[in-house]
Amino acid sequence: MIEDCIFCKIAHQQMPTELLFQNDQMVVFRDIKPHAPVHWLIVPRKHIRSINDLQPEDGDLIAEMIATARDMAKKAGVNESGYKLLFNVEKGGGQVIFHLHLHLIGGWAKS
Ligand code: 5GP
Ligand code: ZN
Repeated sequence: MIEDCIFCKIAHQQMPTELLFQNDQMVVFRDIKPHAPVHWLIVPRKHIRSINDLQPEDGDLIAEMIATARDMAKKAGVNESGYKLLFNVEKGGGQVIFHLHLHLIGGWAKS
């Protein structure tokens, strides 16, 4: 856990945030400023700055993040309508919170 990291605080329940899912490795919660009807964040409890900082031993963690996103898409009811999974990487890639997270975005009206 890193002091002054907001997602470490949420992941270690030092900041009140409703968790939609949690297990030993991961937490899932709603984005505070959603860009779509469903905008959830899949966040490992382990502090990793960004995709650039992944180590070979983090392979299982990344696989679990993606599998969790798939399961949460089903829970949100967007698995059939479709959704986006997004990693922003570093400032130029739009990352503003430097604790690894995967955006699950969907729920737009069907045309
Ligand atoms: P990034 O741009 O770093 O990929 O995404 C960070 C996301 O975290 C943003 O979409 C932002 O709205 C969200 N966010 C920032 N601070 C908080 C917070 O305190 N609580 C929650 N639930 N989301 C946050
Ligand atoms: Zn952190």
